[in-house]
Amino acid sequence: MVNQLTNNQARLNGVCLPQQSIDCWNCPVIKDRINVAELIFRRNIAITRRLREYIFKFSDILRRSYGEDYVFKIMDFCGTHEWTIVHFGIRSLVPNNVELVAGPGCPVCVTPSYYIEQTIKLALEGVVVYTYGDVFRLPALKPVNDARSLAEAKALGADVRIVHSIVHAAIDAGKHGKDSVFVGIGFETVAPGYAEAALKNLLPSNLKLMSLVKLTPPAAFYSLDILREKPNDCPVMGVIAPGHVSTIIGGKAWTPIVENYGIPVVVAGFEPNDVLMAIAEILRQLARNDIRVVIEYTRAVKWEGDVKAQSSIRTVFETVDSAWRGIGYIPKSGLALRPMFSKFDAFEYFGIKDLTPEEWRYDLPPGCKCAEVTLGKAKPTDCPLFMKQCTSDHPVGPCMVSMEGACAVWARFGGGGLSMEIAKDLGLVM
Ligand code: SF4
Repeated sequence: MVNQLTNNQARLNGVCLPQQSIDCWNCPVIKDRINVAELIFRRNIAITRRLREYIFKFSDILRRSYGEDYVFKIMDFCGTHEWTIVHFGIRSLVPNNVELVAGPGCPVCVTPSYYIEQTIKLALEGVVVYTYGDVFRLPALKPVNDARSLAEAKALGADVRIVHSIVHAAIDAGKHGKDSVFVGIGFETVAPGYAEAALKNLLPSNLKLMSLVKLTPPAAFYSLDILREKPNDCPVMGVIAPGHVSTIIGGKAWTPIVENYGIPVVVAGFEPNDVLMAIAEILRQLARNDIRVVIEYTRAVKWEGDVKAQSSIRTVFETVDSAWRGIGYIPKSGLALRPMFSKFDAFEYFGIKDLTPEEWRYDLPPGCKCAEVTLGKAKPTDCPLFMKQCTSDHPVGPCMVSMEGACAVWARFGGGGLSMEIAKDLGLVM
């Protein structure tokens, strides 16, 4: 953490001080730059009104071409976009021929139960487990010694510690020297941090990385394919691509969606106006038959992405087929440590056998529709357990845990324009 004098120097000079600070959220330079741009998008009602007019204008043009009953499905692939959409009631701002569909954008939701069970087992055997807060309550399918989550393992006496990053885990593990594991769940956004920690040899010898990183474009292609299999349904006609992930992989990573599916992609930020702008741009492209990838989130995303981060990831990790919870293996959708970095590998050090496609089994609890929700085939309210057996306090399935999980977001903020539908499903109104 930088001290006040250094903060002021940094602010004046506009420089990054990575040596002095490991906490970018408290970096004065980053704060100043982000706040100005974010506030313009967040607080400007005039922009919101104008965007809504555009959305209605283009949806009317499309209605005349496609007919009254055609619904333009737009998929958001990022859990944080779903959070913005629900939290700010964006579904209530779009016309009825536009439907916003949540996609597979929550890494906690899609991590197979097998790995949660293995980390619970390690924790109960005395290994110190470092994890992010939303992984802590993630329910496994099979209990291990009566513990169905790392939170329950901690209640039984295990040493489970919540951290913000692998660097925090490294600093802490270096102090106690006990066998430790960092549960490396996440998408492309977290991978550069893991890669740099390995490249710079930041991990103490007692801390190992369990790489459970998933890659978003292969999952996006997979879910678009699945949704096209429903012949009587309107297909997804546009994609709001994840802003954070795209800071790493760049706008160019989404061009296969344009080339293979012929639908627009807009890389968007996370303020309500960002999302409205993405919807307006997708409808504009469809109305004018001008289909391409557009980066709306230009304050953070470049076409090429972060080339240095991509290089670090390639050096440390190899792309592997990876299992997604409730869904199964998606080709080339995960990152595993390369053999030359095996000294950091938790699977190798603790002798944990990795899953294989032959051994993978459907791993959601009975009745849970997380796989369908994750793939955009169902809404949280389609699940018979939603807000009955499965609630934020007592999550049954993985989508009810993280603030990036669609069920958790809908449970906490109501579903925006669909709140009446939820209330009807729950029998609260007729
Ligand atoms: S409501 Fe719970 S059980 Fe149902 S799909 Fe969502 S997380 Fe799974």
